[in-house]
Amino acid sequence: MKTILTGDGRTLSITPQTGFFKQNTALAMENKKIFTDAGIIAVDILGSVGAGKTTLAGALVAYLKGQKRLAAIAGDLTTEIDAQRIRAQGAEVLQINTDKGCHLDANMIKNAMDCLNLSNLDIVLIENVGNLICPSGYQLGAHHRMVVISVTEGPYQVVKHPHIFQDVSVVVINKIDLADVMEVDPQKLIADIHTIRPGIPVILTNGRTGQGIAELATALKLDK
Ligand code: MG
Ligand code: ZN
Repeated sequence: MKTILTGDGRTLSITPQTGFFKQNTALAMENKKIFTDAGIIAVDILGSVGAGKTTLAGALVAYLKGQKRLAAIAGDLTTEIDAQRIRAQGAEVLQINTDKGCHLDANMIKNAMDCLNLSNLDIVLIENVGNLICPSGYQLGAHHRMVVISVTEGPYQVVKHPHIFQDVSVVVINKIDLADVMEVDPQKLIADIHTIRPGIPVILTNGRTGQGIAELATALKLDK
């Protein structure tokens, strides 16, 4: 499996770490310490393909860039579409192409961190590979994990993917403007989320208009 890191003219092959979850978790703890020591808040953005992870990352950049220095690390199998979209909002973005890999891991993030000037940053947004299953098992070293679902994925995304909600600090329900058209009741989704994770913040957003982005930034403590 080949993993490639690109951005701003750089292209780098990432040598995979062999080992198990435990090794990944240990590396993630190291990443987190490096972020923390640099004064950076890192956010791992999880969600299915098409949930709106890139749009939300771009919206957070657009909202925060006047007061915070942001960079993003975007995970995707083969394209640089996400990196270009987030970069267009005004952040430095590195793209990790995982080829057949269905999640980011801590080693990939460490490689990306080595390419960023961490002392010039306040926030690093990490867009994980679109997938509601295995990314939950791989810590990256982020301070917050948020999971994005959208009403266009239908009414059963939460009850069918309970594990992804276990280890996140914020849940986003995106494309909220389409709820009526999709005949999906956001209140039912919120109830399903709170059955799995009582009391967890659930933010309703429309990433295309910016609705809910200020609230999301506050929930992730990015605007302090
Ligand atoms: Mg994306
Ligand atoms: Zn995976």
